[in-house]
Amino acid sequence: MRIDSATRDQLQEWEKELSAQYQRICQHELSLDITRGKPSAEQLHLSDRLDGILNGDFRAADGTDTRNYGGLEGLVCARELGADILQVPTEEVLAGGNSSLTLMYHAVLTGYLFGFAGSKPWRELQSPKFLCPVPGYDRHFSICEQLGIGMVTVPMTDSGPDMDAVEEQIRNDRDIIGIWCVPKFSNPTGVTYSKETVDRLAQLGQFANPGFRIFWDNAYAIHDLEQQVNLPSIRAATQEHDTADSVLQFASTSKVTHAGAGVAFVSASTANLASLKKQMQAMTIGPDKVNQLRHSRFFAEFTMLREHMQKHAQILKPKFECVLNQLESAFGDSDLGGWEKPKGGYFVSFNTRPGCAAAVVKLAADAGVKLTPAGATFPYGKDPEDRNIRIAPSFPPLEELDTAMSVFVLCVKLASVRQQLEKL
Ligand code: PMP
Repeated sequence: MRIDSATRDQLQEWEKELSAQYQRICQHELSLDITRGKPSAEQLHLSDRLDGILNGDFRAADGTDTRNYGGLEGLVCARELGADILQVPTEEVLAGGNSSLTLMYHAVLTGYLFGFAGSKPWRELQSPKFLCPVPGYDRHFSICEQLGIGMVTVPMTDSGPDMDAVEEQIRNDRDIIGIWCVPKFSNPTGVTYSKETVDRLAQLGQFANPGFRIFWDNAYAIHDLEQQVNLPSIRAATQEHDTADSVLQFASTSKVTHAGAGVAFVSASTANLASLKKQMQAMTIGPDKVNQLRHSRFFAEFTMLREHMQKHAQILKPKFECVLNQLESAFGDSDLGGWEKPKGGYFVSFNTRPGCAAAVVKLAADAGVKLTPAGATFPYGKDPEDRNIRIAPSFPPLEELDTAMSVFVLCVKLASVRQQLEKL
């Protein structure tokens, strides 16, 4: 189906056919959901052995009684797990509670209220702002929005954020104090940053505001679907450019073990960690070390973690294939949309023709298929071109996903044809 070259008669015929199909689907009273990137029950089962794994032995290898208070930085064995995931030294890792998003929120608060490593608190600037590569992760944007931190969008490319745009913004605006990055299997486009991108990001600290920090949210560090994709080390690059303080790295086991009961990590320079700990110590006596110990027993060796992730991949792969096959057969030879083919992570990002995404989401909702709201991948929920839709294949069973995708492609076709008819 090629819309741009279609005649009015052709479009009218398509509209009639597609509307009839759509009406038939609506009669099925579906109730399907491909909104959030949650692991499926089958994936969660892979980690059920965590329950009871300690079997009454609550002491960590270093003798810590994990049931008791204390240890703001987390257990050493948990920090080692975080160090393996992020490929950084253990001393630079703090192991926290169950959510890396919470750690990111606290890091933003730290920068905003107190400043990092002796730099001025962001709240003292006239209009502190983050750079937001788009499409991006809505919850990052919510943190900025809630704290009144401005957001400046920069486009994502297939090698990471558009670095010319990033550098230009930073050179022209001293109030830019952060950038959100999901460097491997980015949410939602699935892109992994190239060596050049990582290297240029590492150089930003040489000319940005001294309080500027890269929020390196490596949520999908080990979530490869097939062979391992290599993300160049931001730590090595910042060391080379003498900008080690400019980056804060995050990860968690949320999509490794139990999504709501994992362990989260932040890794940073000694000076940055000291700033974070200063803020955190007023807030907590320490994290859930019992759960940290459970995790380090479950993954006694890093190879066990890798094997575990392969089991996730085996469950996820057919679901990604289902989404990609449906998109390819519906739109492979069309001008109705574009998408990426991720090699890992949790999402497929689909771009409709400009101005169609909200209509697609509404049509799908009316047919009983919930999609992530159009615009969610942009700050303030506003996609200026109204075209990006994030598809999350992980949660529904394969048959449901397949049905949801059939509805999705039908809605894309119908919305596109109707829009074109209105234009003519
Ligand atoms: N970062 C990204 C990029 C994510 O996609 C997600 C989950 N959707 C998170 C962070 C949340 O991580 P956590 O469960 O550790 O808070």
